[in-house]
Amino acid sequence: MQQILKSLGISDVNAGGFAGAWGASGKAQKVISPIDGETLGTVTNVTPQEFDAILAQCHRAFASWKLVPAPKRGEVVKAIGDELRRNKAALAELVTLEMGKTLREGLGEVQEMIDICDFAVGLSRQLYGLTMPSERRMHRLQEQWHPLGVVGVITAFNFPVAVWSWNTAIALVCGDTVLWKPSSKTPLTAIACTKIAEKVLRDFGYDPAICSLAIGKGSDIGDLINTDPRVALVSYTGSVPGGRHVGKLVQERFGKHILELGGNGAVIVSEKGDLDIAVRSIYFGAIGTSGQRCTSTRRVIVHSSIHDAFLARLQALYAKTPIGDPRKNENLMGPLVDAGAVETMLGAIETVKAEGGRILCGGERLPLPGGCYITPCIVAAPKDLPMMKEETFAPVLYVVPYDTIEEAIALQNSVPQGLSSAIITNDQRESELFLSAAGSDCGIANVNTGTSGAEIGGAFGGEKETGGGRESGSDAWKTYMRRQTSAINFSGQVELAQGITLEL
Ligand code: NAD
Repeated sequence: MQQILKSLGISDVNAGGFAGAWGASGKAQKVISPIDGETLGTVTNVTPQEFDAILAQCHRAFASWKLVPAPKRGEVVKAIGDELRRNKAALAELVTLEMGKTLREGLGEVQEMIDICDFAVGLSRQLYGLTMPSERRMHRLQEQWHPLGVVGVITAFNFPVAVWSWNTAIALVCGDTVLWKPSSKTPLTAIACTKIAEKVLRDFGYDPAICSLAIGKGSDIGDLINTDPRVALVSYTGSVPGGRHVGKLVQERFGKHILELGGNGAVIVSEKGDLDIAVRSIYFGAIGTSGQRCTSTRRVIVHSSIHDAFLARLQALYAKTPIGDPRKNENLMGPLVDAGAVETMLGAIETVKAEGGRILCGGERLPLPGGCYITPCIVAAPKDLPMMKEETFAPVLYVVPYDTIEEAIALQNSVPQGLSSAIITNDQRESELFLSAAGSDCGIANVNTGTSGAEIGGAFGGEKETGGGRESGSDAWKTYMRRQTSAINFSGQVELAQGITLEL
């Protein structure tokens, strides 16, 4: 472990602030691994005064970075991707140590960082504007995209490095600088990533404050980001209540925001689908990252004719789920992020029981070191179970029977969140209905694959209480830039639009 930490520049005591120089004199916090309760290191938070200086430097760095040609900015992102490739194994292990996901998922998360860097390098030559025909003679209309400013990236614990990279790789090629406030549960991975970006920026001779870092509590450092007009765009990933707060503060000062909030993923399992695909996708979607993905499968809406057969197969898999040290390849589930998350899950299960849900299996705390291990739970749920509308950020899976596809879609859409959904069917009419305007109301709607494991190529995000934001691939880059529309007159005369005449 010490070797991994050292190779990523992590010491016993680490400063949680960076904008060209490392430093932070605020409260020190111990970072405890949920794997076994061992201390990984200590991190000092930044004070409000230090935050101000970090933001000032990140803002200054924007003035020169925005003038670097986009393809040259892409070369920097390419080098960050190469550095991530070199450090993939170590960084994945640190992700696992710090938040407890299995090492294979940690490796997948770092791969996602590499993938978005590759995507962004290509994008750096494709920040296309448009030209449009003007209604006036000898005029031209065009749109251009310009760098926006400082992007404040506030991240959740469950994807401690990928979410930063989705935002940072795109923001950098767009000519923005980045100020990252990670979750206080995962500060070491944030320090490790910032050191990787720092090395690359220094090698190229650019201001390393282009990728700045401010570790501290959401209620103080987070709110400073929300309210400071020097932060042009706040990209916030976290819970719905947090996003509601952030959204209001950023909107009040007319800043831009991307809100990536809670989900409540559902899979519809049709009697016309492949049961094997259904069981395997739902199993991974529900227990992967110990049920702590925004896209985790939390609800299964299964046709009543196959309800019992489906449940029997899923329960058989749940019964033999290997749970334990997530660094060991044989384990498919590691710990929850901390003891508080275990308590939340146990509390949710009590509420589910009181509301009429029947616990079919799981929900038992395991006596393993660290105290963060629990068995995944399946609930036979009545259609109107109130807890089904909430996101319990833990491996609790509700199973509900349905009779018609219209009823299944209505159930899928009946929750406040709108992130991820899927249907398992071989019936084209069903899958097309699910993908149509009459179908799923989510930002992600998959066919014959589960709710989680999004690829970086598409825009990622969700509707309703999930916040409406989009990040990562496709044209999500446009949020990281400002659009400028120009009319250019080369006629040598004055001609007004809409046929308005000006007699002088
Ligand atoms: P959280 O809401 O507790 O914290 C998220 C981040 O917000 C942390 O960095 C936290 O310090 C910060 N924060 C807290 N108060 C703040 C404030 N006043 N201003 C600014 N920032 C503040 O979430 P979590 O427990 O770390 O993560 C789990 C949640 O995140 C779940 O709801 C999950 O669905 C959601 N999530 C969503 C996505 C997505 O893309 N939609 C991805 C990952 C996680």
